[in-house]
Amino acid sequence: MTEHPTHAIPSYLNAEALGPWGSYLEQVERVTPYLGKLSKWVETLKRPKRSLIVDIPVELDNGTIAHFEGYRVQHNTSRGPGKGGVRFHQEVTLSEVMALAAWMSVKCAAVSLPFGGAKGGIRIDPRNYSRGELERITRRYTSEIGSIIGPNKDIPAPDVNTNAQTMAWMMDTYSMNEGGTTTGVVTGKPVSLGGSLGRVEATGRGVYVVGCEAAHDAGIAIEGARIVIQGFGNVGGTAARLFYDAGAKVIAIQDHTGALHNANGLDVLALTKHAEETGGIAGAPDAEQISPADFWALETELLIPAALESQINLENANTVRAKIVVEGANGPTTPDADDILTSKGTIIVPDVLANAGGVTVSYFEWVQDFSSFFWTEPEINHRLEAMMRTAYTSVSAVAKEHAVSLRTAAFITACTRILEAREVRGLYP
Ligand code: GLU
Repeated sequence: MTEHPTHAIPSYLNAEALGPWGSYLEQVERVTPYLGKLSKWVETLKRPKRSLIVDIPVELDNGTIAHFEGYRVQHNTSRGPGKGGVRFHQEVTLSEVMALAAWMSVKCAAVSLPFGGAKGGIRIDPRNYSRGELERITRRYTSEIGSIIGPNKDIPAPDVNTNAQTMAWMMDTYSMNEGGTTTGVVTGKPVSLGGSLGRVEATGRGVYVVGCEAAHDAGIAIEGARIVIQGFGNVGGTAARLFYDAGAKVIAIQDHTGALHNANGLDVLALTKHAEETGGIAGAPDAEQISPADFWALETELLIPAALESQINLENANTVRAKIVVEGANGPTTPDADDILTSKGTIIVPDVLANAGGVTVSYFEWVQDFSSFFWTEPEINHRLEAMMRTAYTSVSAVAKEHAVSLRTAAFITACTRILEAREVRGLYP
């Protein structure tokens, strides 16, 4: 018998040291015993199908030339075209994009969307560039990855620091190069360009829906429940407003400008206005500024990390006093932190389920673009809520059946679907 040549994580490294890709590989290790005969194919999950690194040269407003590194990774396309966002961030790396692409494969399968997983990124701090520079960078990046994207190949969408305008530039660049107008090449577009109503709020709305389901299962009423949210952007901001409207007490929010706390509940609407006007929550009235350590240690019913990866880790997991963690971000909890929380009895609604609302409405957008027939916002929200509830219910049934966490259950459900498709398609040649 030959030794298995590709054990995911060498014994001298722990998953946390390997960053998000290490976290993902560890999650795959944990699900493998539950895959039965399909585990024959599990190696396919441990390596991306295709990774592209591109150089993006651009003339800046001051006449100098700058170069940026961009990525597009297609992790798996067994169940359909690649799907996943593009992020602009100064710390983006290939291995981070690999992990984010892999989580998209799992996410799309967990909620039964007919997509594989992909992700893209450019290592750039977009705050340092003008609108014109960002447009040129986005267009050159789109051209460079143009041969591997397309409505039947791989469909980008917004992610951290990208938005509907970024998608409009991407759609236009792809269309110009193709010599036609292809709206379905990206999702998260402006509504005037074939975007879907409800897409902007979709991720936060999905977080709210599964958060309510998990609270209900734990016997917690949303009215009066305490909510702590990291991130006040598209995901955290929308979730905060929906929980606030439902009568929950959003007692703390953290964004890139600081963390604010009010034990009686923050005025989320006033805070939204303040953040829009000043660029962040810092300095808003009727709240005390707290340290990051105090923020993570707040006693709360729901804790919603809705920013970046690895925020709940070995350093702060022991201090977390939340009954339920709802992962609005991708990969916010490291596997070691996950173990600590689980051993304390904290319920974790994993990212691949909790934040799937965004890609679900992206799927609706892609379908609407193909048929050029557009749905109403109530119709979209209704379908989104129904799909999120169905996914939550089936994952929680798998969790009960195998006596495993919701994360392992979501991975069992998703990896089984991906590997079944892999097996039935067969290897080529
Ligand atoms: N960036 C979002 C995510 O991480 C949405 C991706 C999409 O709509 O394709 O799920």
